[in-house]
Amino acid sequence: MPRWKSAIVQDIQVVSPTTSLFRLALPDEPDFTFKAGQFITFDLPIGEKRLDRWRSYSIASAPSAKVLELCIVRVENGRASEYLFEEVEVGTTLTYKGPDGAFYMPQQLTVPSVFICTGTGVAPFISMLKDLDERKGFSQPIHLIFGTRTEAGILYRSYLEDLAQREPNFQYDICLSRAADSWTGHRGYVHEVYTSMYTGQASDIHFYLCGWSNMVDEAIKRLTEDMQVSERNIIQELYG
Ligand SMILES: Cc1cc2nc3c(=O)[nH]c(=O)nc-3n(C[C@H](O)[C@H](O)[C@H](O)COP(=O)(O)OP(=O)(O)OC[C@H]3O[C@@H](n4cnc5c(N)ncnc54)[C@H](O)[C@@H]3O)c2cc1C
Repeated sequence: MPRWKSAIVQDIQVVSPTTSLFRLALPDEPDFTFKAGQFITFDLPIGEKRLDRWRSYSIASAPSAKVLELCIVRVENGRASEYLFEEVEVGTTLTYKGPDGAFYMPQQLTVPSVFICTGTGVAPFISMLKDLDERKGFSQPIHLIFGTRTEAGILYRSYLEDLAQREPNFQYDICLSRAADSWTGHRGYVHEVYTSMYTGQASDIHFYLCGWSNMVDEAIKRLTEDMQVSERNIIQELYG
């Protein structure tokens, strides 16, 4: 049986028209530890059966942070979304279990990594980057490829800009599927970005994928079939 614990919402920050950062204090676990990339699961008051009530969220903060940060998108007509965005406020107590999951990097990097994500799928990568940053762990190149619809949906933009300026082994590309005319970066979907950059030279790279099945399934197909990347070198977190 999972051990359920209480988290208290300390802060809710709107960061895009559909996305907010929920910051949680964990009074039951002052020494809560997790590996960057893992998630927690809430038992929310949104259904009768337990599986109807459970929703998982990647931790976006670094393992060293005292307050846990989650980056959550409001899904239209989603039951957890409606509860989290309509009912939850500063001071609300939420019931959680975790951390869980095997979506994390080795402690010491020995090969380059490419992170591919869409939307709030960037959350575990932010935790990993913050962790590496704190540990001075960028011993190998890391390339984040982040897809979203419009410029307003670019999450953690100033953090990514700042990190790329400071850390020579970190680069990132943003890809907008509904870009305004003024956008000068990549347009379309993330797939075009990594296929154009890594086809023919992907054998020693670890590809980390995070997001919903439409993106993750397509990425696995392209990596394994078109780019001959070994399944061993693909690590994935599927949101649904
Ligand atoms: C390990 C794990 C980690 C996760 N981490 C995060 C996270 O950090 N941030 C986050 O926002 N969510 C995350 N999720 C997704 C989250 O658990 C919920 O599924 C999400 O909040 C939707 O729940 P809901 O009850 O609002 O919608 P539901 O009522 O459960 O679902 C509504 C429908 O919309 C679909 N759907 C939901 N979201 C999307 C989307 N963005 N694109 C396309 N289809 C979608 C669902 O598959 C479903 O068919 C994670 C999921 C898993 C399994």
